Amino acid sequence: MKCQKCKSEKVMRVKGKCSDLCIVTYPNGREKRGYVPEIPNVGGGDYVKIDVCLDCGQIQGKWPVEIEEPGLNEEDAREMADEVIEHYAEDMRDWKKQFVGRTLDDWKGLVKEFDSDLAEEDVEMVATACLHKANA
Ligand SMILES: [Zn+2]
Repeated sequence: MKCQKCKSEKVMRVKGKCSDLCIVTYPNGREKRGYVPEIPNVGGGDYVKIDVCLDCGQIQGKWPVEIEEPGLNEEDAREMADEVIEHYAEDMRDWKKQFVGRTLDDWKGLVKEFDSDLAEEDVEMVATACLHKANA
């Protein structure tokens, strides 16, 4: 196999069976553990599979690749809710008093301010987690 970029013959295939032990960190920072996500040129399912050029570093295949980045899961949302509360609470010992009576919309505002890159559905999830925590 010749490298698609530099035409070198030194292309190495790496195939690793990791089954459900794969850890992927997406561009948006979300980490997902489990099977290898189906990503062209990278692998999928049980296998990580790449063909890499040892001369120029090019990973072979058709680029760019479009993927869907995962949103928050419930646990991520709860962890982020803790961060939001810690960030805005003036006193962690007595933080609930400060936030008493806050509505979901109030929390959404704080969450958006905390992380302006967050997708709308993620804002809703984190705000809901904040509301539950504050009313618990
Ligand atoms: Zn190359």
